[in-house]
Amino acid sequence: MTVEEILSIHTDIFNRALKEQNYAALEGLYAGDYMLVRPDGSVLNKQEVLQDLRSGGLRFHSIELGQTEVRMYELTAVLTAESQAVSSRNGMESRSHFRLIAVYVQQGQSIKLAHFQSTSLGKAHSQNVMVSHCANPDCRRELHCLRDGKIYQFVLSPKTGSKRLEHFRLCSECSKNMTLICVNQSEVKTARKSAHRFAQV
Ligand SMILES: [Zn+2]
Repeated sequence: MTVEEILSIHTDIFNRALKEQNYAALEGLYAGDYMLVRPDGSVLNKQEVLQDLRSGGLRFHSIELGQTEVRMYELTAVLTAESQAVSSRNGMESRSHFRLIAVYVQQGQSIKLAHFQSTSLGKAHSQNVMVSHCANPDCRRELHCLRDGKIYQFVLSPKTGSKRLEHFRLCSECSKNMTLICVNQSEVKTARKSAHRFAQV
């Protein structure tokens, strides 16, 4: 295990898998007793983390690391860094700035992520702004005023959680040709308006 290896695993496997929603890669990287401690102090185990990622519609758009430091202790590596991330849940974007610690361990031939913990860097550093975006993944235009585009409401009920009312918006350009539909009370998708017209002919 070398510092270079750890840095490459953290950025090329861990952060990339989060951005690409590659849950199989994450499952392979997490140690069996993986522990995630979120900024609010809540603790999740491996299964809970994977379930939360799969059902929560959490998506990372960018993860930037700074002040990265790796300390090696034989079969254990401790990576600390400052991180700025842009993520979204169901089209609502949030930006976060936090300090993180990731503990990697050598298990046989492979290196696993055993622990990840992050601390929010307070109001002085972070801006937790919720920006509304067009729900069309190919567009994602920022929407500023409520008159811009069309608002849709769905009651979502993911397998793990209780029912909640969520709002989604399409920008005025996308809403000309598209509409939003809700599948299985858990997933919101765009659908072409013209498809409905063809179906009626
Ligand atoms: Zn749009």
